[in-house]
Amino acid sequence: MQPEVKIEPERGFPPGVAYIDGDFCDISEARISILDFGFLHSDATYDVVHVWRRRFFRLDRHLDRFLDNVAKLNLALPFDRETPAETLKECVRRSGHDDAYVEMICTRGTAPGYSRDPREAVNGFIAFAIPFSWVANEEQRRLGLNLFISTVNRIPSRSVDPTIKNYHWLDFIKGTFEAYEHHAETVVLVDEDANITEGPGFNLFAVTGGRVTTPGQGTLKGITRATTLELCAELGIGADECPLAADRLGAADEAFIISTAGGIMAVTRIDGIPLGDGKPGPVTARFTDLYWQKHDDPDWTTPVD
Ligand code: PLP
Repeated sequence: MQPEVKIEPERGFPPGVAYIDGDFCDISEARISILDFGFLHSDATYDVVHVWRRRFFRLDRHLDRFLDNVAKLNLALPFDRETPAETLKECVRRSGHDDAYVEMICTRGTAPGYSRDPREAVNGFIAFAIPFSWVANEEQRRLGLNLFISTVNRIPSRSVDPTIKNYHWLDFIKGTFEAYEHHAETVVLVDEDANITEGPGFNLFAVTGGRVTTPGQGTLKGITRATTLELCAELGIGADECPLAADRLGAADEAFIISTAGGIMAVTRIDGIPLGDGKPGPVTARFTDLYWQKHDDPDWTTPVD
């Protein structure tokens, strides 16, 4: 089990450093205009990479996805790939954090004269580093999560492409409140065919008969998901990327959620009903151990300094 990072809130902010429009500042001072379309219309894309013991985990993958998504949304950044990489490193160095949650954002910005034509907007780049953050708290990671399968549908992929990391989270927020009403700890949304998609900040795997299944469509292609699929090959575990019917999830032997914000985290109850024996399972533990071991591997990590 990984040590918990203590956050010392100062005016409600975790300690950290941000970069906006060419300047670094304390996270509590970081501001964008209320006229930024990223804020007004969720017209932005972002990515999150983590740093563990002063090494970025899979930084190249996160930068590739971020820059691809910037291009897919007809956003443009006036620099090459090295600039965001260096900016993220500098945010971490200035923050002093050994373990960090590091976010990069490209926002549409505002057009001169508040034109509504997105082609005229001046796009912006923002980055920040704060302490490492987990989707599940320490107790939830130890005992496993109680996951609620929401009645809320994920926004259809033909409306908002889920492979472009985005801030269209009102479906997740609605589902999260629904989960809390049912005394669950987090939520996963379904698609229009009642297949599992993803949750607020994570993808999901089910383990049945020693094989794993993860939804093949309708989700962000998470870097932790891709990493887990790579670990399958090393662990000799078969994997299927295919539809996962919501009503099949409760019959799985094990399940786990995966995210840059916390890695691999066991699910032990579905809608309050124990999954398997109701304890974090052995297959989940094998993935978790190997995942954290990879954080020392120079092929998978990039030093901050
Ligand atoms: N799905 C959604 C909607 C997310 O927001 C995230 C991460 O924030 C994930 C899945 C997991 O992606 P990754 O493994 O790249 O962190």
